[in-house]
Amino acid sequence: MKVFKFGGASTKDADNVKNVLSVINQAEEKDLVVVISAMGKITNALEYVVSDYLTNATFQHSLKHVYDYHFEILKELFPGSSHSIFSEVDALFSELTHFLKNNKSDNHAFVYDQVVSYGEIISSKIISIYFSENGIDNTWLDGRHCIKTDDNFRDARVDWEITEQKISKNVNPTGITITQGFIGAESVNNFTTTLGREGSDYTAAIFAYCLNAESVTIWKDVPGVLNADPRYFTQTQLLSKISYREAIELAFYGASVIHPKTLQPLQRKGIPLYVKSFLSPLENGTCVGEGVALEPNISCFILKKDLVLISLSSLDFSFMMEDHIGDVFKWLHQYKMKVELIQNSAISFSVCISDKFGNLEALLKKLREKFSVKWNENVTLYTIRHFDPIEVKALRENKQILLKQETQETVQLVIKE
Ligand code: ADP
Ligand code: ASP
Ligand code: MG
Repeated sequence: MKVFKFGGASTKDADNVKNVLSVINQAEEKDLVVVISAMGKITNALEYVVSDYLTNATFQHSLKHVYDYHFEILKELFPGSSHSIFSEVDALFSELTHFLKNNKSDNHAFVYDQVVSYGEIISSKIISIYFSENGIDNTWLDGRHCIKTDDNFRDARVDWEITEQKISKNVNPTGITITQGFIGAESVNNFTTTLGREGSDYTAAIFAYCLNAESVTIWKDVPGVLNADPRYFTQTQLLSKISYREAIELAFYGASVIHPKTLQPLQRKGIPLYVKSFLSPLENGTCVGEGVALEPNISCFILKKDLVLISLSSLDFSFMMEDHIGDVFKWLHQYKMKVELIQNSAISFSVCISDKFGNLEALLKKLREKFSVKWNENVTLYTIRHFDPIEVKALRENKQILLKQETQETVQLVIKE
């Protein structure tokens, strides 16, 4: 049994969906779990539906865009519009509309998960039926019957024990199963939950772990893991082999090609992860495995944008002691801030955070009660692993460095863009 995962880029239009079919055909795997995420940028589009709904009490217009996008793809994949898939997808949109019209909750995270998850439900349905029509027999599986989580909507934590049981009960170990990435369900009321943006890679790893899969392949629009983010760096090189440890570090620092949570379950069972291009499926891509040396051994450049750097100092020039820092971490946790980097001195403490839930104002208010607070929004964190000082110097040129941290292997720079 192997696990494949196809992300939004690989299914963004009808031609790409056809390409996914040819990738599967070329792979010639008999026993596969195929994890599908929402098509193209549909998760973003559904996020608009949620914000329209909760802030403007309307959703018809933004939902129409999502509807039209899928029906354009359907028309190309199933010419003639008489196929039952049209009414099946239509029914999913009716179900979603029914939820939006009848929902009484104003809990943003709850509503978000009930709505945004339709991206994965719809895409996996379309792909399952398209495969069946084109010679790939498969079973469509509702991932919410397998991935069981807590009710921390938008960032749900997996209950591994129940998930393992459900996966072994519901997944046929032979043949091809098509399921969704990113989504799960909490166990009390069975409401849909999501695992955090870009979480489909993680879903693939959860299935692989629970099924003791032979390997996981995540199919991307890049040749594999590169030594720098190709959106910001022009000369990038493919890393053909990296260790789990290196991959976790790169993903954690922001190499968004792999979701950071993906690696740990795979590492625990020694399941190799392949990152390959859906455009050149026969190329080797990147293999992530146990203890393999970085190949080639070069510096890696990662960046995270839109962060906030907060610098705190005590109001009375007293030392920043453990109790102060303890309070800071308590509030960071309370306001769901993700800590990217910290640095402290005798009387100051700096923390670089990402504010995924829009709680910055509330956090600053809290911090001002106890500290003198300075902050910079829209900063970028550059991380250079296995750095060469000459490359770091070149990177720093013409940039305003707000903070620098260096260890033996890694240099990090917080830069005001
Ligand atoms: P999908 O959602 O389709 O699975 P993602 O968009 O999440 O794929 O991940 C692929 C993208 O990750 C690439 O298009 C690339 O822009 C970006 N990326 C960032 N850092 C790296 C890196 N170090 N190597 C390769 N791609 C990277
Ligand atoms: N569709 C979800 C997202 O865009 C999950 C994923 O693609 O991994 O975040
Ligand atoms: Mg993605």
